[in-house]
Amino acid sequence: MCGIVAYVGQQEALPIIIKGLKRLEYRGYDSAGVALIDKRGLNVYKKKGKVSELENHLLGQGDLHSTIGIGHTRWATHGEPNDVNAHPHYSSSEKFAMIHNGIIENYDVLKTDLKNRGYTFQSETDSEVFMKFIEDIHKNNNCSLEEAVRLALHKVVGAYAIVIMNIEEPDTLIAARKGSPLVIGVGKNEYFLASDATPIIEYTNQVIYLDDYEIAVIRDGSLQIKTIENVETNPYINQLEMELEAIEKGGYEHFMLKEIFEQPRSIADCMRGRLDAKNGRLVLGGLRDYMNKFQNADRIIITACGTSWHAGLVAEYLFEEFARIPVEVEYASEFRYRNPVISEKDFVIAISQSGETADTLAAIELAKSKGATIFGVCNVVGSSIARATHAGSYTHAGPEIGVASTKAFTAQISVLTMMALMLGYQRGTLTESKYVQLLNELETIPGKVERTLKMNPNIEAISAEYKNARNFLYLGRGYNFPVALEGALKLKEISYIHAEGYPAAEMKHGPIALIDEEMPVVFIATKDNSYEKVVSNIQEVKARKGKIIAVVTEGDTVVRGMADHVLEVPDTAEAFVPLLSVIPLQILSYHIAVMRGCNVDQPRNLAKSVTVE
Ligand code: GLU
Repeated sequence: MCGIVAYVGQQEALPIIIKGLKRLEYRGYDSAGVALIDKRGLNVYKKKGKVSELENHLLGQGDLHSTIGIGHTRWATHGEPNDVNAHPHYSSSEKFAMIHNGIIENYDVLKTDLKNRGYTFQSETDSEVFMKFIEDIHKNNNCSLEEAVRLALHKVVGAYAIVIMNIEEPDTLIAARKGSPLVIGVGKNEYFLASDATPIIEYTNQVIYLDDYEIAVIRDGSLQIKTIENVETNPYINQLEMELEAIEKGGYEHFMLKEIFEQPRSIADCMRGRLDAKNGRLVLGGLRDYMNKFQNADRIIITACGTSWHAGLVAEYLFEEFARIPVEVEYASEFRYRNPVISEKDFVIAISQSGETADTLAAIELAKSKGATIFGVCNVVGSSIARATHAGSYTHAGPEIGVASTKAFTAQISVLTMMALMLGYQRGTLTESKYVQLLNELETIPGKVERTLKMNPNIEAISAEYKNARNFLYLGRGYNFPVALEGALKLKEISYIHAEGYPAAEMKHGPIALIDEEMPVVFIATKDNSYEKVVSNIQEVKARKGKIIAVVTEGDTVVRGMADHVLEVPDTAEAFVPLLSVIPLQILSYHIAVMRGCNVDQPRNLAKSVTVE
């Protein structure tokens, strides 16, 4: 995954790169490094750990004045996180240095060949092999570095976003991408390169999204982009609309907490300009040209990973209930490799916060090749998935920095809910009166989320009681089953407590064996079709002395009488409950993780944007 940043212009490069790396740390934080061309030449400084470790390391390094530089924050794929495996990587001559985000799948073959011809390697990374492979082509063909990069890209297999510096051309950066993102910020005689736009927005709002198989050369203040076939392209300059404060903590202790509390606004932003309940109107611009295909689809296939896959499961209930079209929800990583049956009559929805998830991208390409229509639901504007799909709707949640997804999840569900309602109405499977009633209810959701957030102190107190638990079980039925999965995922990813989500009825087929007085069980038991059944499941756990934390509908007295703790969410339509019931679960995992001393924004081993398989 990794985050990469580069700068060339008249300003000091180092502070721009360090600040940029901190913004990109959510993408990986195993090590950080920079390369600068200072008085002493092309120098690489790198350190295991966070960007702050690198900053400490740089303190003793003397004058680091340089107007060009590249920086990297790593999520290790090849070789353990240590100083040597950190990027940038030098060429053997130390004349070039390179940063790389991605995986070179044929690195082993290339490495063996280079070794046979006398090359030695400091690190275990595929990236160093990539650098030396380019160097080798440069040397053997006696060509420019840029030409060597181009030739190398025809030979490497895998994913990459790279930026290279050359001591002999101290005003030049060469960049390329395939599969991993790269954004170029265009300033006045200066350029900023980064994995996403967050390191760039305070300097310029003009950006170019480099496409796959494109090489950008910035030389002497001007930019040229060519394909790897050597054809010059005319880059399109996009205007960024992101605000700087959206990527800062704004007084909260952690991004995750800020993002949880932003949900009334992010859900409202997601619906803004789309939902007009008063006039009974709902419009998703991205669907307009594809409504016909959507309406007449034989099947809806939803493909996603992680939390987005949970949003997809909620959508399965929504689409089947409102639009009566069969739905399959697929892990992108399984879907892409199992030769799935896909036809032109299928409508595929790909969900990804970052819009860069490698497996989801591959699943899209597969479905596209079989003629299906692909619709993207992404948060990051201009991301690879947003560009690879036929059409799509952005979730408009704003930048999500906390690695554990919160507001992006509820925004994804909001988009999917609107899609299901539109589809049901168009197909006539949802009556006009029911449709209007649901639109009106949907409009109240941001206010109800606001009310739900008021439980925060109460949940904090409960968290203190369970912070030392070793296991947790999350149980729900119907629309709340995916919520149970998401609650368990939130807890395990940030607090490292083992947690499992199950459909409540499945408990009897195994998990019930785990229940004793040590086991906290979180039930999502809101008033809906399966409420009575869930109440029976609560009794079953209680009979075995499990500790019960229940999310219930406001005013519930039955579960209150049984549970050890209840958390009330406002009443709403059954289909919209996940937008409320997930909130207390996000807050619970947040407090438990903080109390256990975990780094909630950057949990170990994880990274936010999963651009590797
Ligand atoms: N494969 C490279 C490494 O392990 C880059 C990793 C990445 O982009 O996540 O260093």
